[in-house]
Order: sequence, then C-alpha cells, then structure tokens
Amino acid sequence: MRVGHGFDAHRLVEGRELVLGGVRVPHATGALGHSDADVLAHAIADALLGAAALGDLGGHFPDSDERWRNADSMELLGLCAAELQRAGYRVENVDATIVVQQPRLAGFIPAMRESLAARLGLALDRISVKAKTSEGMGYTGDGSGIAAYAVAAIERR
Ligand SMILES: [Zn+2]
Repeated sequence: MRVGHGFDAHRLVEGRELVLGGVRVPHATGALGHSDADVLAHAIADALLGAAALGDLGGHFPDSDERWRNADSMELLGLCAAELQRAGYRVENVDATIVVQQPRLAGFIPAMRESLAARLGLALDRISVKAKTSEGMGYTGDGSGIAAYAVAAIERR
C-alpha cells in the first residue's frame, strides 16, 4: 500500500467557468488556468502520481505545451490513472477537500464523486469529496482563489 498527496490552487476570475471534478458549477467567477483549471481534478491527479512516485501533473502535461491549452482536466486525470495502471498499481481510494468561500458546493458533491469514479473506473465508495470554507481568511476566503487537497492510496495489482 502506498499513499500520495496532491495540492492545487487557482485564481478565480470573471469570464471563466468553474469546473470541479468535471462538473460545471454556476458562479460569477471561474478558475483561471492554461487548461480548464479544474482544481479538484488537478489535486487528485497529483495525489495519484505522487503515490506511485511518477512525478506531477505539470511534468506530464506542461503549461508550455499548446496541446494542453483549454484541456479537459478529467481527460488528463484519466491519462494519469492509465499510467498508474501501466506501472502495475490500482487505486484503493481517494479523499479530497476543496477550499472556497463561495459558491457553496454541497449540492454538487454527489455529481463530482460520480464523475470522478466513472473517470477512474472506481466504485463510488472509493471516492470522497468534501468542501470547506476558510472562514473568510486568505485567498480562499476573499473570493480571489480556490484550492484543493487530495490523498490517494494505491496498491500493487
Ligand atoms: Zn491546477
């Protein structure tokens, strides 16, 4: 059994969509980034890659590469999962926390879990997503940004 950790953060700006775990969340601002800036998918991808000591998302899909402009991060997550499989691992479980003041995400979490479980080919009870505020403190509290943390456990097949 091996464990990996992932962290990601993006600025929130007007004129961008907010996509979390492949789910579009209606909001006045969205995450700014080279890809679709899906902070949840990015944190989980880094946790999976980290568990297998396979580097990080930025190393696999660099910002400097035009191929990944406006990329669907769920596709990138699927590619990371496939790489883990090739390396001989299977995912045991993923647990993630999104930190943002607004919007309130509770109503979207079931759809995020389903979307992630489908992409990773896992049963729903192996995927946990939680949402927290930072009680108004810092960049996740003042509306300027969104962050996500994830841990993943993997096992040799
Ligand atoms: Zn990111």
